[in-house]
Amino acid sequence: MNADILALEPSKSVALLALVKKMQAEDPNVLNLTAGDPDFSTPEAVSEEAFAWIKRGYTHYSPSQGDADLREAVAEKLKKDNQAEFTADEIIITPGGKFAVYLAVRTLLARGEEAIWLTPGWVSYPAIITASGGVPKAVHLDYAKEYKITAEQLEKAVSEKTRLLILNYPNNPTGKILSAEEAEEIAVFLRRHPDLYVLSDEMYEKIVFDGVKSVSVASCPEFSDRVMIVNGYSKSAAMTGWRIGYLACKGDILKNAMKLFSHTMSCTSGFVQKAALKAMSCAEETEAMRRTYEARRNLLVEGFKTIPHTDFQSPEGAFYAWVRFDVKEDAGAFAEKLLREAKIGCIPGNAFGAEDACYLRFTFAASEEVLKEMLVRLKAFMEKY
Ligand code: GLU
Repeated sequence: MNADILALEPSKSVALLALVKKMQAEDPNVLNLTAGDPDFSTPEAVSEEAFAWIKRGYTHYSPSQGDADLREAVAEKLKKDNQAEFTADEIIITPGGKFAVYLAVRTLLARGEEAIWLTPGWVSYPAIITASGGVPKAVHLDYAKEYKITAEQLEKAVSEKTRLLILNYPNNPTGKILSAEEAEEIAVFLRRHPDLYVLSDEMYEKIVFDGVKSVSVASCPEFSDRVMIVNGYSKSAAMTGWRIGYLACKGDILKNAMKLFSHTMSCTSGFVQKAALKAMSCAEETEAMRRTYEARRNLLVEGFKTIPHTDFQSPEGAFYAWVRFDVKEDAGAFAEKLLREAKIGCIPGNAFGAEDACYLRFTFAASEEVLKEMLVRLKAFMEKY
Protein backbone atom coordinates (compact mmCIF):
# COMPACT_ATOMS: atom_id res chain seq x y z
CA MET A 1 0.00 0.00 0.00
CA ASN A 2 1.10 3.55 -0.68
CA ALA A 3 2.48 4.96 2.59
CA ASP A 4 1.30 8.51 1.81
CA ILE A 5 -2.28 7.30 1.49
CA LEU A 6 -1.99 4.94 4.46
CA ALA A 7 -1.09 7.95 6.58
CA LEU A 8 -4.41 9.67 5.84
CA GLU A 9 -7.51 9.79 8.02
CA PRO A 10 -10.84 9.84 6.16
CA SER A 11 -12.26 13.37 5.68
CA LYS A 12 -14.08 14.33 8.88
CA SER A 13 -16.63 16.50 7.06
CA VAL A 14 -17.47 13.74 4.58
CA ALA A 15 -17.51 10.97 7.22
CA LEU A 16 -19.60 12.89 9.75
CA LEU A 17 -22.08 13.94 7.08
CA ALA A 18 -22.59 10.28 6.20
CA LEU A 19 -22.88 9.23 9.85
CA VAL A 20 -25.38 11.95 10.77
CA LYS A 21 -27.48 11.29 7.66
CA LYS A 22 -27.60 7.62 8.57
CA MET A 23 -28.68 8.50 12.10
CA GLN A 24 -31.34 10.86 10.72
CA ALA A 25 -32.83 8.06 8.65
CA GLU A 26 -33.56 6.22 11.91
CA ASP A 27 -34.27 9.28 14.06
CA PRO A 28 -35.52 12.46 12.31
CA ASN A 29 -34.85 14.36 15.51
CA VAL A 30 -31.12 14.40 14.77
CA LEU A 31 -29.93 17.82 13.52
CA ASN A 32 -27.40 17.85 10.72
CA LEU A 33 -25.00 20.79 10.97
CA THR A 34 -21.98 18.89 9.69
CA ALA A 35 -20.79 19.38 6.09
CA GLY A 36 -21.30 22.65 4.26
CA ASP A 37 -23.95 21.60 1.78
CA PRO A 38 -26.45 24.37 0.92
CA ASP A 39 -30.02 23.50 1.86
CA PHE A 40 -31.22 25.44 -1.23
CA SER A 41 -32.14 23.80 -4.52
CA THR A 42 -29.87 24.42 -7.46
CA PRO A 43 -31.46 27.32 -9.45
CA GLU A 44 -34.15 25.99 -11.76
CA ALA A 45 -32.59 27.53 -14.88
CA VAL A 46 -29.37 25.63 -14.16
CA SER A 47 -31.14 22.27 -13.94
CA GLU A 48 -33.18 23.07 -17.08
CA GLU A 49 -29.98 23.86 -18.95
CA ALA A 50 -28.49 20.49 -17.97
CA PHE A 51 -31.66 18.63 -19.07
CA ALA A 52 -31.62 20.43 -22.41
CA TRP A 53 -28.00 19.49 -23.09
CA ILE A 54 -28.56 15.88 -22.04
CA LYS A 55 -31.50 15.70 -24.45
CA ARG A 56 -29.32 17.20 -27.16
CA GLY A 57 -26.90 14.33 -26.59
CA TYR A 58 -24.10 16.34 -25.00
CA THR A 59 -23.24 13.26 -22.98
CA HIS A 60 -19.90 12.20 -24.46
CA TYR A 61 -16.33 13.24 -23.82
CA SER A 62 -15.85 16.98 -23.97
CA PRO A 63 -12.54 18.87 -24.43
CA SER A 64 -10.17 17.77 -21.67
CA GLN A 65 -9.38 21.24 -20.35
CA GLY A 66 -13.04 22.25 -20.36
CA ASP A 67 -15.48 23.83 -22.83
CA ALA A 68 -14.16 27.02 -24.42
CA ASP A 69 -17.33 29.01 -23.62
CA LEU A 70 -17.14 28.19 -19.91
CA ARG A 71 -13.40 28.90 -19.74
CA GLU A 72 -13.98 32.25 -21.49
CA ALA A 73 -16.69 33.12 -18.97
CA VAL A 74 -14.46 32.13 -16.04
CA ALA A 75 -11.54 34.22 -17.36
CA GLU A 76 -13.87 37.20 -17.71
CA LYS A 77 -15.28 36.68 -14.23
CA LEU A 78 -11.79 36.49 -12.67
CA LYS A 79 -10.88 39.77 -14.36
CA LYS A 80 -14.09 41.53 -13.37
CA ASP A 81 -14.67 40.23 -9.84
CA ASN A 82 -11.13 39.49 -8.67
CA GLN A 83 -8.90 41.71 -10.85
CA ALA A 84 -7.00 38.52 -11.69
CA GLU A 85 -5.51 38.22 -15.18
CA PHE A 86 -5.98 34.75 -16.65
CA THR A 87 -6.84 33.87 -20.23
CA ALA A 88 -9.37 31.17 -21.09
CA ASP A 89 -6.38 28.94 -21.96
CA GLU A 90 -5.20 29.24 -18.37
CA ILE A 91 -8.36 27.74 -16.87
CA ILE A 92 -8.94 24.02 -16.24
CA ILE A 93 -12.51 22.96 -15.53
CA THR A 94 -12.52 20.23 -12.86
CA PRO A 95 -15.04 17.94 -11.21
CA GLY A 96 -15.39 20.06 -8.06
CA GLY A 97 -13.08 22.49 -6.32
CA LYS A 98 -11.56 19.72 -4.24
CA PHE A 99 -10.11 18.05 -7.32
CA ALA A 100 -8.78 21.43 -8.48
CA VAL A 101 -6.91 21.73 -5.17
CA TYR A 102 -5.54 18.21 -5.58
CA LEU A 103 -4.52 18.86 -9.19
CA ALA A 104 -2.58 21.99 -8.25
CA VAL A 105 -0.87 20.55 -5.18
CA ARG A 106 -0.05 17.20 -6.81
CA THR A 107 1.42 18.93 -9.86
CA LEU A 108 3.50 21.45 -7.97
CA LEU A 109 5.04 19.54 -5.07
CA ALA A 110 8.04 17.28 -5.52
CA ARG A 111 8.36 14.50 -2.94
CA GLY A 112 9.31 15.92 0.45
CA GLU A 113 8.58 19.55 -0.46
CA GLU A 114 6.58 21.55 2.04
CA ALA A 115 3.31 23.42 1.76
CA ILE A 116 2.12 25.92 4.36
CA TRP A 117 -1.52 25.87 5.38
CA LEU A 118 -3.15 28.09 7.95
CA THR A 119 -5.17 26.80 10.86
CA PRO A 120 -8.01 26.76 11.55
CA GLY A 121 -8.20 25.49 7.99
CA TRP A 122 -10.20 23.13 5.86
CA VAL A 123 -9.76 19.45 6.71
CA SER A 124 -8.57 18.37 3.27
CA TYR A 125 -5.56 20.66 2.73
CA PRO A 126 -3.06 18.71 4.86
CA ALA A 127 -4.46 15.41 3.56
CA ILE A 128 -4.06 16.49 -0.07
CA ILE A 129 -0.51 17.70 0.60
CA THR A 130 0.37 14.35 2.22
CA ALA A 131 -1.31 12.35 -0.54
CA SER A 132 0.82 14.30 -3.03
CA GLY A 133 4.04 13.22 -1.30
CA GLY A 134 4.49 16.64 0.29
CA VAL A 135 4.76 17.75 3.91
CA PRO A 136 2.05 20.00 5.42
CA LYS A 137 3.39 22.81 7.62
CA ALA A 138 0.68 24.37 9.76
CA VAL A 139 0.77 28.01 10.78
CA HIS A 140 -1.54 28.38 13.75
CA LEU A 141 -3.36 31.69 13.65
CA ASP A 142 -4.48 33.16 16.94
CA TYR A 143 -8.15 33.30 18.00
CA ALA A 144 -7.47 36.23 20.33
CA LYS A 145 -6.10 38.17 17.33
CA GLU A 146 -9.13 37.25 15.26
CA TYR A 147 -6.96 34.96 13.16
CA LYS A 148 -5.13 37.83 11.45
CA ILE A 149 -2.13 36.79 9.34
CA THR A 150 1.28 38.36 9.78
CA ALA A 151 4.33 38.02 7.55
CA GLU A 152 6.34 37.08 10.66
CA GLN A 153 4.19 34.04 11.39
CA LEU A 154 4.49 32.83 7.81
CA GLU A 155 8.22 33.43 7.87
CA LYS A 156 8.68 31.09 10.83
CA ALA A 157 7.17 28.18 8.88
CA VAL A 158 9.48 28.54 5.87
CA SER A 159 12.39 26.22 5.12
CA GLU A 160 14.44 25.65 1.98
CA LYS A 161 11.85 23.00 1.07
CA THR A 162 8.82 25.30 1.15
CA ARG A 163 7.11 25.52 -2.22
CA LEU A 164 3.52 26.51 -1.61
CA LEU A 165 1.25 28.62 0.59
CA ILE A 166 -2.44 27.69 0.66
CA LEU A 167 -4.92 30.47 1.41
CA ASN A 168 -8.67 30.12 1.80
CA TYR A 169 -10.78 33.27 2.09
CA PRO A 170 -13.60 33.64 2.96
CA ASN A 171 -12.38 30.99 5.34
CA ASN A 172 -13.78 27.60 6.15
CA PRO A 173 -14.22 27.19 9.13
CA THR A 174 -13.73 30.65 10.71
CA GLY A 175 -15.66 32.83 8.25
CA LYS A 176 -12.84 35.40 8.19
CA ILE A 177 -12.16 37.28 4.98
CA LEU A 178 -8.77 38.50 3.74
CA SER A 179 -8.42 42.20 4.48
CA ALA A 180 -6.26 44.59 2.45
CA GLU A 181 -3.80 44.83 5.39
CA GLU A 182 -3.41 41.05 5.54
CA ALA A 183 -3.00 40.86 1.77
CA GLU A 184 -0.14 43.35 2.21
CA GLU A 185 1.44 41.12 4.91
CA ILE A 186 1.27 38.24 2.44
CA ALA A 187 2.79 40.46 -0.25
CA VAL A 188 5.71 41.31 2.05
CA PHE A 189 6.23 37.60 2.66
CA LEU A 190 5.99 36.65 -1.03
CA ARG A 191 8.53 39.31 -2.02
CA ARG A 192 11.01 37.65 0.32
CA HIS A 193 10.34 34.24 -1.28
CA PRO A 194 10.24 34.52 -5.06
CA ASP A 195 10.14 30.73 -5.57
CA LEU A 196 7.02 30.21 -3.55
CA TYR A 197 3.60 29.63 -5.15
CA VAL A 198 0.20 30.47 -3.70
CA LEU A 199 -3.00 28.48 -4.03
CA SER A 200 -5.95 30.73 -3.30
CA ASP A 201 -9.14 28.76 -2.64
CA GLU A 202 -11.96 31.26 -3.12
CA MET A 203 -14.91 28.87 -3.04
CA TYR A 204 -16.93 31.01 -0.60
CA GLU A 205 -16.27 34.28 -2.43
CA LYS A 206 -19.95 35.07 -3.06
CA ILE A 207 -21.02 34.44 0.53
CA VAL A 208 -19.92 37.57 2.39
CA PHE A 209 -21.81 39.73 4.87
CA ASP A 210 -22.16 43.39 5.87
CA GLY A 211 -21.01 44.55 2.44
CA VAL A 212 -17.41 43.34 2.87
CA LYS A 213 -15.29 41.82 0.10
CA SER A 214 -12.45 39.36 0.51
CA VAL A 215 -9.25 40.39 -1.30
CA SER A 216 -7.79 37.95 -3.83
CA VAL A 217 -4.00 37.74 -3.74
CA ALA A 218 -4.16 37.12 -7.49
CA SER A 219 -5.30 40.73 -7.92
CA CYS A 220 -1.72 41.89 -7.33
CA PRO A 221 -0.02 41.90 -10.79
CA GLU A 222 3.35 41.45 -9.11
CA PHE A 223 2.42 37.88 -8.15
CA SER A 224 0.11 36.95 -10.99
CA ASP A 225 2.52 34.31 -12.36
CA ARG A 226 2.61 32.37 -9.12
CA VAL A 227 -0.89 32.62 -7.73
CA MET A 228 -3.33 29.84 -8.63
CA ILE A 229 -7.04 30.27 -7.99
CA VAL A 230 -9.54 27.56 -7.13
CA ASN A 231 -13.23 28.32 -7.28
CA GLY A 232 -16.46 26.65 -8.36
CA TYR A 233 -20.21 26.52 -8.21
CA SER A 234 -20.91 24.30 -5.20
CA LYS A 235 -21.51 27.07 -2.71
CA SER A 236 -22.46 30.06 -4.91
CA ALA A 237 -25.10 28.13 -6.90
CA ALA A 238 -25.91 25.28 -4.47
CA MET A 239 -24.33 22.74 -6.83
CA THR A 240 -22.32 20.54 -4.44
CA GLY A 241 -23.53 17.28 -5.95
CA TRP A 242 -22.82 18.33 -9.55
CA ARG A 243 -19.06 18.34 -8.90
CA ILE A 244 -17.94 21.32 -10.90
CA GLY A 245 -15.15 23.81 -10.22
CA TYR A 246 -12.00 25.17 -11.79
CA LEU A 247 -8.32 25.86 -11.41
CA ALA A 248 -6.72 29.00 -12.86
CA CYS A 249 -2.96 28.65 -13.29
CA LYS A 250 -0.18 29.48 -15.73
CA GLY A 251 2.94 28.24 -17.49
CA ASP A 252 4.54 24.96 -16.49
CA ILE A 253 1.98 24.26 -13.79
CA LEU A 254 -0.82 24.50 -16.31
CA LYS A 255 1.01 22.34 -18.84
CA ASN A 256 1.82 19.62 -16.31
CA ALA A 257 -1.52 19.76 -14.51
CA MET A 258 -3.18 19.10 -17.86
CA LYS A 259 -1.07 15.96 -18.34
CA LEU A 260 -2.20 14.63 -14.97
CA PHE A 261 -5.80 15.67 -15.64
CA SER A 262 -5.93 13.93 -19.01
CA HIS A 263 -4.69 10.71 -17.40
CA THR A 264 -7.01 10.83 -14.40
CA MET A 265 -10.27 12.62 -15.22
CA SER A 266 -10.09 12.88 -19.04
CA CYS A 267 -12.61 15.72 -18.82
CA THR A 268 -15.40 17.14 -16.67
CA SER A 269 -18.96 16.21 -17.68
CA GLY A 270 -20.05 18.38 -20.65
CA PHE A 271 -23.69 18.96 -19.68
CA VAL A 272 -22.61 19.87 -16.16
CA GLN A 273 -20.31 22.51 -17.67
CA LYS A 274 -23.24 23.95 -19.63
CA ALA A 275 -25.21 24.09 -16.37
CA ALA A 276 -22.29 25.85 -14.66
CA LEU A 277 -22.17 28.42 -17.45
CA LYS A 278 -25.86 29.09 -16.81
CA ALA A 279 -25.17 29.38 -13.07
CA MET A 280 -22.85 32.30 -13.83
CA SER A 281 -25.86 34.33 -14.92
CA CYS A 282 -27.92 33.44 -11.82
CA ALA A 283 -26.70 36.41 -9.78
CA GLU A 284 -30.15 37.01 -8.33
CA GLU A 285 -30.45 33.49 -6.94
CA THR A 286 -26.90 33.67 -5.55
CA GLU A 287 -27.71 37.00 -3.89
CA ALA A 288 -30.96 35.64 -2.41
CA MET A 289 -29.03 32.76 -0.84
CA ARG A 290 -26.37 35.15 0.45
CA ARG A 291 -29.02 37.31 2.12
CA THR A 292 -30.54 34.26 3.77
CA TYR A 293 -27.13 33.14 5.07
CA GLU A 294 -26.60 36.61 6.48
CA ALA A 295 -29.94 36.51 8.32
CA ARG A 296 -29.01 33.10 9.74
CA ARG A 297 -25.60 34.38 10.75
CA ASN A 298 -27.32 37.19 12.67
CA LEU A 299 -29.67 34.73 14.32
CA LEU A 300 -26.73 32.63 15.50
CA VAL A 301 -24.73 35.61 16.75
CA GLU A 302 -27.67 36.61 18.96
CA GLY A 303 -28.38 33.01 19.95
CA PHE A 304 -24.86 32.16 21.07
CA LYS A 305 -24.79 35.25 23.30
CA THR A 306 -27.30 33.47 25.53
CA ILE A 307 -25.45 30.15 25.68
CA PRO A 308 -23.05 29.76 28.60
CA HIS A 309 -19.41 28.66 28.13
CA THR A 310 -19.37 29.65 24.44
CA ASP A 311 -17.65 32.38 22.49
CA PHE A 312 -18.45 33.10 18.87
CA GLN A 313 -16.70 35.65 16.65
CA SER A 314 -19.23 36.74 14.06
CA PRO A 315 -18.20 35.41 10.61
CA GLU A 316 -17.75 37.88 7.75
CA GLY A 317 -18.34 35.20 5.14
CA ALA A 318 -18.90 31.50 4.30
CA PHE A 319 -21.64 29.64 6.19
CA TYR A 320 -20.08 28.26 9.33
CA ALA A 321 -20.35 29.16 12.99
CA TRP A 322 -16.94 28.47 14.49
CA VAL A 323 -17.63 28.40 18.20
CA ARG A 324 -15.19 28.21 21.09
CA PHE A 325 -16.38 26.16 24.08
CA ASP A 326 -15.03 26.59 27.54
CA VAL A 327 -15.18 22.87 28.43
CA LYS A 328 -12.74 20.22 29.64
CA GLU A 329 -13.15 17.60 26.90
CA ASP A 330 -11.30 17.76 23.64
CA ALA A 331 -13.37 18.76 20.62
CA GLY A 332 -13.75 15.20 19.30
CA ALA A 333 -15.14 13.83 22.57
CA PHE A 334 -17.33 16.90 23.08
CA ALA A 335 -18.82 16.72 19.58
CA GLU A 336 -19.59 13.05 20.13
CA LYS A 337 -21.33 13.81 23.41
CA LEU A 338 -23.37 16.55 21.76
CA LEU A 339 -24.45 14.17 19.03
CA ARG A 340 -25.35 11.40 21.47
CA GLU A 341 -27.08 13.50 24.12
CA ALA A 342 -28.47 16.54 22.28
CA LYS A 343 -28.68 14.98 18.82
CA ILE A 344 -26.74 17.83 17.26
CA GLY A 345 -24.30 16.83 14.53
CA CYS A 346 -21.38 19.20 13.93
CA ILE A 347 -17.65 18.97 13.12
CA PRO A 348 -15.03 19.02 15.91
CA GLY A 349 -12.48 21.82 15.62
CA ASN A 350 -9.41 19.57 15.80
CA ALA A 351 -10.33 18.36 12.29
CA PHE A 352 -9.35 21.89 11.20
CA GLY A 353 -6.04 21.77 13.04
CA ALA A 354 -7.27 23.87 15.99
CA GLU A 355 -5.74 22.37 19.13
CA ASP A 356 -5.54 25.37 21.47
CA ALA A 357 -9.10 24.98 22.81
CA CYS A 358 -12.34 23.13 22.16
CA TYR A 359 -14.01 24.48 19.01
CA LEU A 360 -16.97 23.12 17.10
CA ARG A 361 -18.08 24.06 13.59
CA PHE A 362 -21.82 24.28 12.90
CA THR A 363 -22.85 24.92 9.33
CA PHE A 364 -25.65 27.40 8.76
CA ALA A 365 -26.34 26.00 5.33
CA ALA A 366 -29.37 24.64 7.18
CA SER A 367 -32.88 26.02 7.66
CA GLU A 368 -33.72 28.67 10.23
CA GLU A 369 -35.98 26.16 11.93
CA VAL A 370 -33.12 23.68 12.37
CA LEU A 371 -30.79 26.43 13.60
CA LYS A 372 -33.33 27.66 16.16
CA GLU A 373 -33.84 24.13 17.43
CA MET A 374 -30.06 23.68 17.67
CA LEU A 375 -29.80 26.85 19.77
CA VAL A 376 -32.56 25.70 22.13
CA ARG A 377 -30.97 22.28 22.62
CA LEU A 378 -27.45 23.62 22.96
CA LYS A 379 -28.55 26.19 25.51
CA ALA A 380 -30.23 23.51 27.62
CA PHE A 381 -27.19 21.26 27.25
CA MET A 382 -24.69 23.95 28.25
CA GLU A 383 -26.79 25.19 31.16
CA LYS A 384 -26.59 21.71 32.65
CA TYR A 385 -22.92 21.35 31.79
N1 GLU B 1 -16.21 21.73 2.07
C1 GLU B 1 -17.41 21.36 2.78
C2 GLU B 1 -17.14 21.30 4.27
O1 GLU B 1 -16.10 21.70 4.74
C3 GLU B 1 -17.99 20.09 2.23
C4 GLU B 1 -17.37 18.80 2.63
C5 GLU B 1 -15.93 18.70 2.24
O2 GLU B 1 -15.65 18.59 1.06
O3 GLU B 1 -15.10 18.79 3.13
O4 GLU B 1 -18.01 20.87 4.99
